[in-house]
Amino acid sequence: MLTYEQYRQRVVDAVPRLSAETVDVTDPSALLGRVIAAPVRTAVPLPGFTNSAMDGYAVRAADIAAAAKNAPVTLPVAGDIPAGDTRSLSLEPGSAWRIMTGAPLPDGADTVVQVELTDAGTEQVQIRAAQPEGTAVRRVGEDVVTGDEVLATGTLLHPRHVPVLASAGVQQVSAIRRPRIAIVSTGDELVPVGATPGHGQVVDSNGPMLAALVQEGGFELADTRRVGDTGEQVRAVLTELAAGVDLIVTTGGVSAGAFEPLKLAFEDSDEQFEFVKVSMQPGKPQGFGMLGSTPVFALPGNPVSSLVSFLIFVAPAARKMAGRSPALPTATARVGETWQSPPGRTQFARVVYDDEGRVVRPIGEQGSHVLGGLAGSQALAIVPGDTTEVAVGETVSVIPLDGLA
Ligand code: AMP
Ligand code: MG
Repeated sequence: MLTYEQYRQRVVDAVPRLSAETVDVTDPSALLGRVIAAPVRTAVPLPGFTNSAMDGYAVRAADIAAAAKNAPVTLPVAGDIPAGDTRSLSLEPGSAWRIMTGAPLPDGADTVVQVELTDAGTEQVQIRAAQPEGTAVRRVGEDVVTGDEVLATGTLLHPRHVPVLASAGVQQVSAIRRPRIAIVSTGDELVPVGATPGHGQVVDSNGPMLAALVQEGGFELADTRRVGDTGEQVRAVLTELAAGVDLIVTTGGVSAGAFEPLKLAFEDSDEQFEFVKVSMQPGKPQGFGMLGSTPVFALPGNPVSSLVSFLIFVAPAARKMAGRSPALPTATARVGETWQSPPGRTQFARVVYDDEGRVVRPIGEQGSHVLGGLAGSQALAIVPGDTTEVAVGETVSVIPLDGLA
């Protein structure tokens, strides 16, 4: 048996890095989840012009050097400069312009006095404090100079990267493609969502769950299929999909039963497909192979096993394909209630947090078919194989199911 770390490393190593493409900075659905493939440099400085950081009066610092609360300096006001004023203005010595935040500083002005330090006059203004030269002035290029690298290769794009790109006139960036993922649910017992299952049938819940995991993970959902339990059917669908997608995830048909279509599909083939047992609970039976250059992850059918397998194996590999980190996003938490863990296998226990979000306790039933408990859980606690009891007060590693945000 492999440990989950060994198997994870094996599948992460086996998947390829995807190529880059051009994405539009103004299209959030294209931007998020993508990694910059080449450094981004600006062709312009930021700010693009020297402007005021306050609502107040543009002056020369020297003209108000003697100003004090009890001895205000009075200057004539030449007029108003609102934000968006495109005139080229200059400041006569011994005068002031009333100026708004973000408005261009007139030539000759070196300082802005905030309105609160004045009488807010419009014809003339009383200034009640001297200011060091440069106060409340944003100089051209003080943020970014022309040619600066504003985003490095490998940056995972977030909303916070958009302003510098947009302001610098960068409309498009080169970013690594997100893997396009197809989901295939196997099982003669499955009926689609919305259909009423007959005796012995169940609704295909893994298909839509995995589709949602694909979206949440920052990947692209390319296709969803349902197939029956014959090797030929599975093989035909996977072969067709492999030509058009970057990664395929199947569920069901990998364990030790008599009708295991994934195993049947590849038992006599040339493809390198391996079925392994991983010392973890849930998620012990796993399959992985390449159809041409398309990786195929064959996950067990129990819904909880499918979810855990996706998070622990598929998502890290897909992140690597997208140029992102394959590391598991773990945190730590304190144990608030003792629970048992199977010897020799890593347990991914479903847990809930206390109100503070620091202490976890197990949800009641840990069976891999328990859907209500899955919905109620907030994190997976990772319990090492050599631990058989997780005791109150200990610290455990957890994977928060709602992200680390
Ligand atoms: P299998 O891995 O195919 O042996 O399936 C294990 C268990 O998971 C069985 O109870 C299946 O009915 C159930 N199962 C398999 N696939 C799905 C699915 N797509 N949606 C819901 N349950 C499933
Ligand atoms: Mg099955």
